Amino acid sequence: MFKDRYPSRLLEDAVEQIGMLPGIGKRSALRIALFLLRQPVENVRHLAASLAGLRENAKYCSVCGMISDDDVCPICSDSRRDRSVVCVVESLRDVLSIEATGQYHGVYHVLGGIISPMDGIGPSDIAVGPLVERVRAGNVSEVVLALSTGVEGETTAFYIYRQLSGTGVKITAIARGVGFGDDLEYTDEVTLGRSIADRREFNP
Ligand SMILES: [Zn+2]
Repeated sequence: MFKDRYPSRLLEDAVEQIGMLPGIGKRSALRIALFLLRQPVENVRHLAASLAGLRENAKYCSVCGMISDDDVCPICSDSRRDRSVVCVVESLRDVLSIEATGQYHGVYHVLGGIISPMDGIGPSDIAVGPLVERVRAGNVSEVVLALSTGVEGETTAFYIYRQLSGTGVKITAIARGVGFGDDLEYTDEVTLGRSIADRREFNP
């Protein structure tokens, strides 16, 4: 038997590349590689091109830092959104979770990470500076912290709170109830929607 080795270098290379993706083990990587092998070559080319295109051409909104095809993202440029309320999240995934609730009508600020000394991510590695600038520029009345529970989320929230103290902006945090997951992504829509509606003044 081949054990960990495959009868083809091409296959081995593809499995290795696919296996680098988060949540994809070697077994899944092999299944995906074999699936792709059975697809029309144009489909696979399209997949490869779209991934390369995403990485090479993706831009970030100059206002909120969210991935966007334009200089300003659709949410920031939507005149129906309340631009005086800014919800601070770790990543685009959280924006999508909150948008799915239909309960939030303000705008966002995407940090692009969370403070995590264990992973070598410090305050300067996430977009807190641009948030402070945004608040200092005026027109922001409330900053809603919607970060994960747990030490990293709390450390990040406290750091942001300190950076914003003195600006006079109201700082709130989404309400946390029993049974909350660590990740906003895994919280159900109803619960997340309620926790945004029930947000409270942030009390470190
Ligand atoms: Zn934006």
